[in-house]
Amino acid sequence: MNPLIELKNVSKIYTIGRNIQVLALNNITLQFNVGEFVAVSGPSGSGKTTLLNLIGLIDVPTQGTITLDGNHISMNGLAQLHRLRLQNIGFIFQSFNLIPVLSAYENVEYPLLLTDLSASERKKRVEQVLAEVGLSELANHKPRELSGGQCQRVAIARALVNKPKIVLADEPTANLDSVTAQEILQLMAKLNQEENVTFIFSTHDPKVVQLARKIIQLRDGKVEQIVMQDNNTVENRKELQGDRPDQPVTKHHRQRGKTKSSANRH
Ligand code: ADP
Ligand code: MG
Repeated sequence: MNPLIELKNVSKIYTIGRNIQVLALNNITLQFNVGEFVAVSGPSGSGKTTLLNLIGLIDVPTQGTITLDGNHISMNGLAQLHRLRLQNIGFIFQSFNLIPVLSAYENVEYPLLLTDLSASERKKRVEQVLAEVGLSELANHKPRELSGGQCQRVAIARALVNKPKIVLADEPTANLDSVTAQEILQLMAKLNQEENVTFIFSTHDPKVVQLARKIIQLRDGKVEQIVMQDNNTVENRKELQGDRPDQPVTKHHRQRGKTKSSANRH
């Protein structure tokens, strides 16, 4: 089976002014399969946001190729990128990015207004996804009437409402307290398993990293290490969260615990 996303020898160079160049990603080759739950970790400036922006078709690489579900996206025009993005990708942001004047319901419905779905089909979809994130009761509330965790649930519902193949979340828990952060990750993990949607999220929080099946560690724009945690089921994650949040479960976790210097930056 072909991978859902494939990056081959991808580099991204940002040019500032006339002659300053920043090598944000340096010759990255990576594959992601359907249904994976992946964390991208690494210190501030290591390239996490740049990587997610390239996978999410928000930006294009300077060198190399990206293939999404068989489409060679680096060769496509902007209109095609836009269509592929709408059909395949949902985004979750650190600061939620909800529209303040719209209710939770309307925020979730918003991406569907760009589709051909009828009003009744939209209603069904929105109600279903709000129920999945546990917000049916708060559908008419505006973002300012919701907690940070509830706002992020709205954002997760909005990311999923189009039934994307991939959900990308750039530091989705960075604005949340640690208990809420774990709850949001648990929710993402549950939806990942139930819907078989590929989740790729970035984080600099070692506790959040522990919840991933696969961890891609970036440093200076390169993949430093890929760690697989195959036994990390939802049940194990709950155990991690509830009973012994500080207890390392593998050697890898102990190593992560030491990288405190990057813990509060992103
Ligand atoms: P992270 O998300 O891990 O903090 P980023 O992908 O944001 O890392 O940044 C990687 C590198 O690229 C950093 O050195 C950063 O300063 C630089 N960078 C990111 N975005 C831009 C931009 N739009 N213009 C210039 N440099 C950028
Ligand atoms: Mg970032």
